Amino acid sequence: MDDWSQIARGSLRTAEQVACAFDLDIGEVRKVSRQFKTLITPYYAGLIKTKGDPIYRQVVPDTAELVENSGVSDPLAEDHDSPVPSIVHRYPDRVLFLVSHRCASYCRFCTRKRKVGDASKIHPRYIEEGLDYIRAHEEIRDVIVSGGDPFMLSDARLEFVLSRLRAIPHIEILRVGTRVPCFLPQRVTPKLAAMLRKYHPLYINVHFNHPDELTPEANAALSLLADAGIPLGCQTVLLKGVNDDPLVMRRLMQKLLAARVRPYYIYQADYVSGTDHFRTTVQKGLEVMEAIRGWTSGLAVPYYCIDAPGGGGKIPVLPKYVQSITPEQVVMKNFKGETFVYPQINPEPKTPEKRAPRKERRPAISPCYEMTGLPPVG
Ligand SMILES: *Cc1c(COP(=O)(O)O)cnc(C)c1O
Ligand code: SF4
Repeated sequence: MDDWSQIARGSLRTAEQVACAFDLDIGEVRKVSRQFKTLITPYYAGLIKTKGDPIYRQVVPDTAELVENSGVSDPLAEDHDSPVPSIVHRYPDRVLFLVSHRCASYCRFCTRKRKVGDASKIHPRYIEEGLDYIRAHEEIRDVIVSGGDPFMLSDARLEFVLSRLRAIPHIEILRVGTRVPCFLPQRVTPKLAAMLRKYHPLYINVHFNHPDELTPEANAALSLLADAGIPLGCQTVLLKGVNDDPLVMRRLMQKLLAARVRPYYIYQADYVSGTDHFRTTVQKGLEVMEAIRGWTSGLAVPYYCIDAPGGGGKIPVLPKYVQSITPEQVVMKNFKGETFVYPQINPEPKTPEKRAPRKERRPAISPCYEMTGLPPVG
């Protein structure tokens, strides 16, 4: 057995184990876990310093998840854009391909809470159907292999998926989305990296939400992937009590960059039922972005996006750097909030009607006349 599967087998999975590990009411843990799957790797549990800290909050069940609220179970309407169970086809040239229902640990705020951990919703038998769909749709040039977590598949199973995709002529790039480097970095082995590098151009987006997650083990896993020539990005979720602090988020972005990961997106927490206790205001997100842009390396600045409820896709939300744009000038605010003006080139008048009154008002005066005092010609 691999080292990593042995570690994974030691995960906290039953309500008894979780309640005992964190001194919680077993009845409550059981009630929440019945609704939303619970699993915590011993490695990740070991990063918890105190009950309720940012690592704890991401994976330990909380009765707040049972609170009825207005969130929905499929906030992004992914099922609506799902032609076959394993595919979400929302954008013109790329698809999500769900190949694994398992994750190394389960995030309490997961957007796909209704699916992850449930083999009947993301079943291996749907993989062939997904491959057929991708083969039949030549407009698809980018496949995002996701789940669940694709790195929870065996090397052989994951290679099966990647090699079939690579054999499709219209597929230009492959992407894998995984939180394994954060939850179970031991699973990223030299053997896995050697397999992945056969399927370039391959990109990986990892998922880290707090600077404390970038341990020596996580850094080693990320190095193995980067050394295999795989460009790494990170998708972070803005979460109350985890990273809704501009300085924590800036530090996370800096540590990612130092781990050779280019921050890609910070997501506003999705409108998922049972996750209101994780949701911040969008103003908070803007405050976080203003604390990153300009204050640290431009490479550390991701896009802040809201995945629009109802299936509208990702919409970038930007702090208001441009105050006004007129034909004459652009008034802007810099990262420190100071105002600056960029003068525009005098735009050409667009229509003859507009040109005429201007001529009447004031004859053209040459700079030469102004200097010499001679009367203007014509
Ligand atoms: C996020 C997402 C993608 C990929 O979007 P990019 O902006 O290209 O990273 C593709 N399909 C779906 C359904 C998504 O949610
Ligand atoms: S790793 Fe990703 S898919 Fe799995 S529970 Fe966390 S957010 Fe959801």
